[in-house]
Amino acid sequence: MKVAIYVRVSTLEQAEEGYSIGEQKDKLTKYCEIKDWTITKIYSDPGFSGSNLDRPSMQQMIADATTGLYDAVLVYKLDRLSRSQKDTLYLIEDVFQKNKIHFISLSENFDTSTAFGKAMIGILSVFAQLEREQIKERMMMGKAGRAKAGKIMAWSNIPFGYIKDHDTYDIDPLRADIVKDIFKRYLEGTSITRIYQQLNEEGHIGKNVKWSYRTVRQVLGNATYTGNVTYHGKLYPALHRGIISKADYDEVQRQLKIRQIEAEKKFYAHPFQSKYMLSGLLKCGYCGATLKINKAHRKNKPPRWRYNCPNTQARSHAKTYAHKNINCPFKLIYRDEAEDMVIREIKKLALHPDSVINVPTPKQHDHINTEAVKKELESIKRKQDKLVDLYLIADSLNLDDLNKRSQELKSQQKALEAKLGPAEKDDHNILEFKKALVKVKDIDKLSYDQQKFIVNQLIKSIDVMNDKVTINWNI
Ligand SMILES: [Zn+2]
Repeated sequence: MKVAIYVRVSTLEQAEEGYSIGEQKDKLTKYCEIKDWTITKIYSDPGFSGSNLDRPSMQQMIADATTGLYDAVLVYKLDRLSRSQKDTLYLIEDVFQKNKIHFISLSENFDTSTAFGKAMIGILSVFAQLEREQIKERMMMGKAGRAKAGKIMAWSNIPFGYIKDHDTYDIDPLRADIVKDIFKRYLEGTSITRIYQQLNEEGHIGKNVKWSYRTVRQVLGNATYTGNVTYHGKLYPALHRGIISKADYDEVQRQLKIRQIEAEKKFYAHPFQSKYMLSGLLKCGYCGATLKINKAHRKNKPPRWRYNCPNTQARSHAKTYAHKNINCPFKLIYRDEAEDMVIREIKKLALHPDSVINVPTPKQHDHINTEAVKKELESIKRKQDKLVDLYLIADSLNLDDLNKRSQELKSQQKALEAKLGPAEKDDHNILEFKKALVKVKDIDKLSYDQQKFIVNQLIKSIDVMNDKVTINWNI
């Protein structure tokens, strides 16, 4: 039988008797002589621990297992191979047995070629499993145990208002007062935006960097301030003292949820800055300009709103637009008539969604750099995505700004899409559009704001000529 000898000694064990590389080699060689086995290779890992298999000669032995270099592996003691049951089992089952290699350990009389040795593998696997579970349990016990004992987690950041003291926190009186103040202001109804502005106006005391929306929000959501530690979403009474009462903290969490829902509602109710349903959507069918709304004063009658092309030389606008030297033939369209017509068209389409396939798409424009326009469109869409994120955390103070910005981006997007000409009417777009349509069958019964929202969702632009109106659907 061709035998490979494996010897190992860790730096710590080297002093101990019987464990030196020389002694291990000596005993194993003698044993082979008695058995009349041939030693084909000696694998030696001096100064390596047995806690893992990351040892040069061990790796070489594993690699050689498939080459037929040896029929058996001989070690002095089982723990020379590995100190982990899991690794031992891996070597015996996945490396040695798979390649029909026997494994013999001298001290324990462990020989996988015998019936007893085979039974030992089964026992070994049970212990390996136990070992894996024990490691897991120890890790879990570590964290859960700390939480149950009220100790802070080793990796957590020290919350503003506390100083770390071994396993717990001490109160930092100056900063703790600021934390109390943040909770108080929020409970009095001050918005997060206003709170961080106020704190910065007051000189962000106790803090090197300025307060931001994020950092104030973090303070308001940190349960550590109630004198508890959090582990897996559960609170445990902590060793450190609280700064905020549990009742106040709970009330703040409730308020945070309510105010976020209100911000979202506001966003969906007033997504566009423009007052009128079709403002920004109506385009002059002759020159492409966006139609502008103005009031038509009438004798003895209430004024009527109408849309005009800014490039027409209407009498009242002659001075304003004369310098542009364009005389557009567009006359006007009344606001109420245009709105009624658009709602009728949406209703008609919603009742017959299958006719969608035949609706006109925006007309083609020549001489444009398609790639550049597409690139710009992508960047605008990214900005819009970011805006939506902001909406979700916004409070009343900055909603107006966001609305304005959203409107700007939307008009930029529309202008660019108009340049690109007809969007490819792929099946997916048509399906999405139909889905949206089906929901708005009763558009004529909705509020003006709701109608405005739907119109802006469904319609890209409307080309208006004196005798013809073309709706460009947002497919
Ligand atoms: Zn015009």
